[in-house]
Amino acid sequence: MTHVDHEEFAWRWAEAIVGTSYVPIERRVLASRLLGLTHQLVEAALAVEFDPSVGRQVGVDMVAAHFTGTETLRETLALIAEELPGLLDSAPPGVDAAGRVAQLVASMAAGYAGALRERSLDEQDAIYRAGLRARRQAEQALAASEAKFRAMFTEAAIGIAIADLEGNITDANSAMQRMFGYTYDEFTQLNILSAMVHPEDAASVWETYEELIRGKRDHFRMEKRYYRSDGGEIWTHLSVSLVRDEAGAPAYQVALLEDISERRRLQNKLEYQAYHDPLTALANRQMVTERLGQIFAGPAGHRRVGLCFLDLDGFKVVNDSLGHDAGDQLLKTVASRLTRCCSAGQLVARMGGDEFVIVVEDTAGAADMAALADKVLAAMAEPIRVGDHELNVTTSIGVVELAVADTNPEDLLQAADITMYRAKRDGKARYVMYDRNRNEREVARFTLSATMLAAVERGEFFLEYQPLVGLADRVLRGVEALVRWRHPTFGVLGPERFIDLAAESGSIVQLGRWVLARACEQARAWHDAFGAAAPFVSVNLAPRQLHEPALVDDVAKILLDNRLDPSSLQLELTEQALMGDEAGPLTVLTKLHDLGVRIALDDFGTGYWNLPDLRRLPITELKLAGSFAVGLQSPSPLADQRIVAALVDVAHALGLTVTAEGIETPTQLERFRAVGCDTGQGALFAPPGAAEEIDALLRAASPLCDVSGESL
Ligand code: C2E
Ligand code: MG
Ligand code: MG
Repeated sequence: MTHVDHEEFAWRWAEAIVGTSYVPIERRVLASRLLGLTHQLVEAALAVEFDPSVGRQVGVDMVAAHFTGTETLRETLALIAEELPGLLDSAPPGVDAAGRVAQLVASMAAGYAGALRERSLDEQDAIYRAGLRARRQAEQALAASEAKFRAMFTEAAIGIAIADLEGNITDANSAMQRMFGYTYDEFTQLNILSAMVHPEDAASVWETYEELIRGKRDHFRMEKRYYRSDGGEIWTHLSVSLVRDEAGAPAYQVALLEDISERRRLQNKLEYQAYHDPLTALANRQMVTERLGQIFAGPAGHRRVGLCFLDLDGFKVVNDSLGHDAGDQLLKTVASRLTRCCSAGQLVARMGGDEFVIVVEDTAGAADMAALADKVLAAMAEPIRVGDHELNVTTSIGVVELAVADTNPEDLLQAADITMYRAKRDGKARYVMYDRNRNEREVARFTLSATMLAAVERGEFFLEYQPLVGLADRVLRGVEALVRWRHPTFGVLGPERFIDLAAESGSIVQLGRWVLARACEQARAWHDAFGAAAPFVSVNLAPRQLHEPALVDDVAKILLDNRLDPSSLQLELTEQALMGDEAGPLTVLTKLHDLGVRIALDDFGTGYWNLPDLRRLPITELKLAGSFAVGLQSPSPLADQRIVAALVDVAHALGLTVTAEGIETPTQLERFRAVGCDTGQGALFAPPGAAEEIDALLRAASPLCDVSGESL
């Protein structure tokens, strides 16, 4: 036996097993390790005292060195059995070397197997223990997180409930219990589909819910109302999530509910206040605007809409004479009567003051609205009891019924409003149906009326002057100031377009003051330029102006400001201004007369006239209406001529001068002159014109119309 033999054996051994186990080791290193085991085996086989357990130890060592591949042992044992005996040449005599090798092989196998078994037991044990440890940790973590979630669940301020897919509630936290007034046990008896439905839930609520249960969506949120256990109602902000199992199939549902009843209540209250009149609890103007907005929002199609605009007649009198409480009482009664006249879909609203509106959707024609207006008038016919008084209250109604496509909310309301005013003018206590043509005219009138005051400020008005001429000498005595409006869109408007409007709206007071001041300034200018030849200016006064006690002071001040003698000013007023029982106008007139201002009774002969009455009037002149001039022009003027002659005589007898208006022809001029008329006015002398035209006449200083009757 040589050492070289051992090394070679170890090398062969290494070669046999090198690929059989997982130990990553170089063959050289392996061979040197196996060389040690080879020495042991050879020594054991040659020992005097044979110990087969050396083989066992070698098996154990192999396992310890991780040579445990399935082929390793087989290759090893085969090599040892076959080749080891070759190393045992030096066996002492009597030693059965082959037998010893066989025993070594057997015990090696046993050692190997035993070691291998022990090692896998150890490994399993380690795995098992690690598993136990991991499970314990996982359980602890789970318990901790469950506890955390449980605490969140129970303590949450927000209501949380869990239910299965059939809707059976399986858990509900304390906030949920408080919110609904159910105990935990009661809650877990409930089913969502029976207990959580509110009759006013939109269909979409439960469609969405179905989608969630069927796994078509994973959550939804909405505001939803519920009944509490005591029957009360709560509003919640609801958010529901679907929880799926590991395979992704719907497993159960979790609902979070926040009680928003308070917020809703506040919101409702604010909304209610925003859309209702506090006195009558009717809808207000805002609501009407909204409703009309909705009606006109959709496609117009053939839809029609109707509107009644009501204004109580003489409400102000009730308020002023019986007090505001009585007025309020009256409005409330009217509100409830109107409500009774209307069906559910019709909107009754108080627009403010004593104005009400009824909006009717989807009317079939004007007849619908006429019927409604009749019903309202009938309802209002009953006297209304307020305190101890039985009041007969009537109302004026403007009724509009139009195709939605033909109008818009603003125009509809305005048309109804304007139509209501026509009902007032036509005698009140009635309804008037809207008439588009008439309406357009009135809209124009309204526009003028509404913008007039601003127009005075902006200087859109101006005056023209028309000569008042002595008929005997045809010398310029005075000029009548006639107002015009240079309107930015309508052009120059004559007084017939706006004087009545100004009188209705009251702006005649401001406009009149402006005319007076402007005319007096002009009079001053003529005085400065022409001295004694300057004409007096004659200014028209509307009846309304005579009701202003300030008029006297205004006139006095304007005269003073312009350093004018009162006789340089004439004021023209019509008989109409002095009709009626009131003493005011006459008092004002007397004061003006006492100031020394000339007073002319304009358009005399057109209305109610009463000669004896003239006696008590503080006036200086009669202006005969143009109709007399027309009469005198006729082929048989005798009767007219006599009447005019008589009038002139009476006037003169009363100390009044007489002016004839509307003289257009030399014939008229001659006939008026013949009966003694003092002055004349008309196209024959000059039409109304700018102040400069009067300047020109004054500069010419010659008669205005020669004997042949031709105007200069
Ligand atoms: P009025 O006071 O009777 O004024 C005379 C009207 O007759 C003027 O009409 C004048 O242009 C017109 N006229 C003048 N010559 C002739 C003629 O030969 N033939 C005919 N057919 N008519 C003639 P105008 O300027 O349109 O004024 C109409 C009315 O408007 C005035 O009637 C007066 O009542 C009122 N008015 C004019 N300016 C004022 C004003 O400043 N204040 C007030 N309150 N009313 C005014
Ligand atoms: Mg006049
Ligand atoms: Mg006149």
